[in-house]
Amino acid sequence: HISIQELRKEFGDIVAVDDVSFEIEEGSFTSIVGPSGSGKSTILRMIGGFESPTDGRVLIDGEDVTDEPPFERDVNMVFQDLALFPHMTVGENIAYGLRYDDRNFTKKEREEKIESMLEMVALSGYADRDPEDLSGGEQQRIAVARALVKEPDLLLFDEPLASLDRKLRQRMQTELQRIQAKTGITFLYVTHDQEIALSVSDTLLLLNEGEIEQIGTPETVYEEPETSFAADFVGDVN
Ligand code: ATP
Ligand code: MG
Repeated sequence: HISIQELRKEFGDIVAVDDVSFEIEEGSFTSIVGPSGSGKSTILRMIGGFESPTDGRVLIDGEDVTDEPPFERDVNMVFQDLALFPHMTVGENIAYGLRYDDRNFTKKEREEKIESMLEMVALSGYADRDPEDLSGGEQQRIAVARALVKEPDLLLFDEPLASLDRKLRQRMQTELQRIQAKTGITFLYVTHDQEIALSVSDTLLLLNEGEIEQIGTPETVYEEPETSFAADFVGDVN
């Protein structure tokens, strides 16, 4: 369970996130949507610990992690520019996700773990491949595997599929949905893609100028928008 309490971020005069509060149920798939500059990435980065809030708290399973660095949180993040390390193999890239893991794996256990992650993203046998030789979609899946390997409670995605073409995006979207259902990891997913937000998530959070405009099931937000902004925003999809 994630509890976001009056989270605020100011950059000089800019209020990027304006006292935002919401709750995320364990094992849920929450999408965050909203116009460019509405504060989506900033919220995600604060939850992940990559940005410190001006004010407010982040609680994960009742524990206040607001002042904890990223690696102390049971959280991982997949960024839009997924950035696999080109000088490492695919397997080494995934193993990198374990660098702060305090479980002491043997070399064999580590290899098994990497292979099971590869299986999870349907890329069995790719461990020794060079990331640069993979397609965009395959790289994307490796980035997800790297984020999954430490078995976080919460996975944060910042537009992870934005650079892919439509067909691949839809495939990856199904893939992510499957992984989420299988692992039970809580997903918090920032996207510009209303199709993903509508079809994949169980909760939709609509942001506008750093504030929550509406939060609810995608069906509710789309069918019963509470503000004219929400109506306009979801209207764009039709
Ligand atoms: P997009 O959809 O374009 O990615 P976003 O919803 O993710 O937008 P944020 O990146 O969270 O938006 O930015 C929210 C606001 O905070 C914007 O006005 C942005 O210019 C500002 N901002 C974000 N990061 C910084 C920073 N490091 N320094 C100054 N201003 C920033
Ligand atoms: Mg952003």
